[in-house]
Amino acid sequence: MKKERVVIIGSGPAGLTAALYTARAQLKPVVIAGNQLGGQVAITHEIENYPGFPDGLSGPELVERMKEHAENFGAEVKFDLVESVDFSKGSPFLVKTMAEEYLADTVIVTIGADPRKLGVPGEKEYVGGGVSYCGTCDGFFFRDKDIVVVGGGDSALEEAIFLTRFASSVNIIHRRDELRAGVQLQERAFNNEKISFTWNTVVEEILGEEGTGVKSVQLKNRETGEVTEQPTDGVFIFIGHDPNNAVFGDQIALNENGYIITDQRYRTNVDGIFAAGEIQDEIWRQVATSVGQGTSAAMSAIHWLEENEKTLQELDALPEAGD
Ligand code: NAP
Repeated sequence: MKKERVVIIGSGPAGLTAALYTARAQLKPVVIAGNQLGGQVAITHEIENYPGFPDGLSGPELVERMKEHAENFGAEVKFDLVESVDFSKGSPFLVKTMAEEYLADTVIVTIGADPRKLGVPGEKEYVGGGVSYCGTCDGFFFRDKDIVVVGGGDSALEEAIFLTRFASSVNIIHRRDELRAGVQLQERAFNNEKISFTWNTVVEEILGEEGTGVKSVQLKNRETGEVTEQPTDGVFIFIGHDPNNAVFGDQIALNENGYIITDQRYRTNVDGIFAAGEIQDEIWRQVATSVGQGTSAAMSAIHWLEENEKTLQELDALPEAGD
C-alpha cells in the first residue's frame, strides 16, 4: 500500500482549496471526491457572492475550476467513496475507499453536511426550479415573488428574514404551534410585515410545471386534517442539516449536533487529522467561508508535517507487519 503525505476526504470548496495549498507545498495530495465533484456546491445553479466573479458562475463551473487549479500543482482527484477509516493508532492513518486503501501521514476531512430533505413528491424534481435549501444563494432570483419557508428553527427564521429583502411575501410553514428558534429571532420575524406563519402544518407535495417550476404546495393541517393548496413561486426548506459523519464512528470528537470539533487551527482531537468546511461549521455554510477554512486546515497540516518529519521518517523506516 502506497503511503501518501495528505489524503483529503471531500471535494467541495474546502477540500479543493486544501488540495491546492498542499499541492503547492509539493505534498501531492490525494482527494477522495465522492461520486460528484463539489458536494453541495454542485447543485447550486448560480453563485453570485464568491469574490472575484462579478458576473457570477455556476456551482459546477466553480468547483471544476478549483479542481483544475489544484491538479495543475499536482493534486490527484479520485472519484471514489470512503468506506471506513482507522484513526485509532495515530499517523499514518488508514483510509479505505470502495476502490483502494490509503495510508496517510495526515488527513483533512472536508466531507460536508447535507440539508435535510422533506422527502415529499415534487421536492427533488423542482430543485433549481423553485425549491431551494439556501436563501443566500437563491434569494435574489425571487425578487417580488411570493414564497414559502419550511421549518421553525433559527435557520428558517434567519433565512426568512433575509428573503424578505427580495420576496413580496414569505409564509413560514411550521409543523408545530411553537417555534424552536431563539426569542430574538422570533421577535424580528413577528415584527416583519412581509412574514406570515402557517402553524401545525406540513407540506405534503410540491406542485409545478416542467419549464416554469414551482406553482403551489399542498398542505395538511396536523390538527384538523384539512388539506389545502397554496399558490407559491418558491419553497425554501430549512429543517436542519445532517453532517456526513457516519464513516468516522466514534473516532473523532463530534459536538452534540454531530459536527467535528476543531480548534482555531482546524485541528481535530486526533493529532494529524484536520477538518474544514461544513463538517465542522454548522453556522455559515458559505463557499467563501469553506475556502478560508480549507486554506487554514491545509496550512496547519503542512506545519504539522514539518514538525513531525523526523518521527514520520523513523516510522517509515520500520518494517511493515508481516515483513
Ligand atoms: P434545527 O434547530 O434543528 O431546526 C429545524 C427545524 O425544522 C425545527 O423547527 C423542526 O421542527 C423543523 N423540522 C425538522 N424536520 C422537519 C420535517 N421533516 N418537516 C417539517 N419540519 C421539520 O435546525 P437549524 O434551524 O438549521 O439550526 C441548526 C443549529 O444551528 C441550531 O443549533 C441553531 O441554533 C444554529 N443556528 C444558529 C443561528 C444563529 O444563532 N443566528 C442561525 C442558524 C442556525 P420542530 O421544531 O418541530 O422539531
